[in-house]
Amino acid sequence: LIQLYLPLNILGFAYREIRQGLTDMEEMFRLLNVPAEVSDAPDAKPLAVTAGTVAFREVRFSYRPDREILKGVSFEVPPGRMLAIVGPTGAGKSTISRLLFRFYDASGGAVEVDGQDVRAVTQDSLRRAIGVVPQDTVLFNDTIAYNIAYGRPGATEAEVIEAAKLAQVHDFVLKLPEGYRTRVGERGLKLSGGEKQRVAIARTILKDPRILILDEATSALDTRTEQEIQAALRDVSRGRTTLVIAHRLSTVVEADEIIVLQEGRIAERGSHAALMARGGLYAEMWRRQSEAVAAAEAAARAEEDA
Ligand code: ADP
Repeated sequence: LIQLYLPLNILGFAYREIRQGLTDMEEMFRLLNVPAEVSDAPDAKPLAVTAGTVAFREVRFSYRPDREILKGVSFEVPPGRMLAIVGPTGAGKSTISRLLFRFYDASGGAVEVDGQDVRAVTQDSLRRAIGVVPQDTVLFNDTIAYNIAYGRPGATEAEVIEAAKLAQVHDFVLKLPEGYRTRVGERGLKLSGGEKQRVAIARTILKDPRILILDEATSALDTRTEQEIQAALRDVSRGRTTLVIAHRLSTVVEADEIIVLQEGRIAERGSHAALMARGGLYAEMWRRQSEAVAAAEAAARAEEDA
């Protein structure tokens, strides 16, 4: 039935582009029923989610045979903890999240959730256990209520509103011409990147997964939006095992562990304090980003004065 609502413009999207951006991958697979790169093993069992531990064990992966993207990546995220993945563009950060969601299978090593190899469980059960807040959320051409309720089909209006409040998007919705009945998406009201991300957060709150993948926006948002989104992300990740592809200094500072990925390998790992003390790649990235933030703030002040 849900397919009846499928907006044509989503069908028109280049499949590769969507996947590339990690944009709304859950929607894409469930709604478009795109044949996945991987299929369930004949004896696949539903994932038994207990505490929500995520582990990568010597994971290797290549999109193409001639170029290895992950060259033996190992980490373990204990239940409810946050791992921040940082590193230059092209280092393989998104690839890690795609392997956890099992868009692709590792060519070596294993990806495990609560001790179960993701290749041995049904994809449906795996994807139900993992919530994704992408960088750029695609909204359906439907009401804002529908777009939030999508996180848990059958959610009541009260549950939708509660999730919207937690995601700090409720007050925004109340100011819209028709509140929760306002139509959004390509053919409705266009929302800003920050507003769309908060809708995605509300969806994820409704979905209530044990494990969370956050892909932070790379583009700068205004300070207030930034703070609201940070607060909402902090709330949604509390108590859930979280992998964040981090672009914000404030996020990495709070992470339990940071891995610095470079050319498919973990070049450095540890807490923010430990990595700063080490004075390596991470410390250098931090210094450059702090300078960029300071420069942007100075430019904003200059503009105000002009
Ligand atoms: P990051 O998230 O760190 O920027 P990605 O994990 O997206 O990096 O990509 C790592 C490398 O894999 C990049 O060089 C990218 O060009 C390549 N890559 C990503 N997706 C594909 C694909 N579908 N086919 C081939 N190469 C890809």
